[in-house]
Amino acid sequence: MKKKLQVEAICKGTVIDHIPAGQGAKILRRLQLLDSELRITVGFNLPSEQLGLKDILKVENRLFTTKEANELSLFAPTATINVIEDYEVTRKFPMSTPDVLEGGFDCPNSNCISHNEPVEACFRVRKQDDDIRLKCKYCEKSFSKDIVAGI
Ligand SMILES: [Zn+2]
Repeated sequence: MKKKLQVEAICKGTVIDHIPAGQGAKILRRLQLLDSELRITVGFNLPSEQLGLKDILKVENRLFTTKEANELSLFAPTATINVIEDYEVTRKFPMSTPDVLEGGFDCPNSNCISHNEPVEACFRVRKQDDDIRLKCKYCEKSFSKDIVAGI
């Protein structure tokens, strides 16, 4: 028996599934998906066997770069990215939290040398309880992921 889909299928694009409930909205903001004209279907607080409740995002005609996938992994380390072509899942990869995150985020410390040097911000990533902390390679200060992501 075919499992009933909780959110309508899309023809082509990306489905991010198994996002911890509450993180879906942050991902939309962080990746500035709402500023685009992309067609996006969201499901918040859907029942999930693994997570209890989950969020799901379906973004049509859009693939994510490795850098974006790294950013995503901060908010949704449990998520799975499904690449859809012709209504079929052609590729599926689970998120994993990177050890090091380069580029994409600026160091929240305004005195950090990375702001005055032509360098990409670089953080060491560490899981701590329910949060993920990022430690700047340049000023060695540690921040919660939400602070670094500015959301
Ligand atoms: Zn810094």
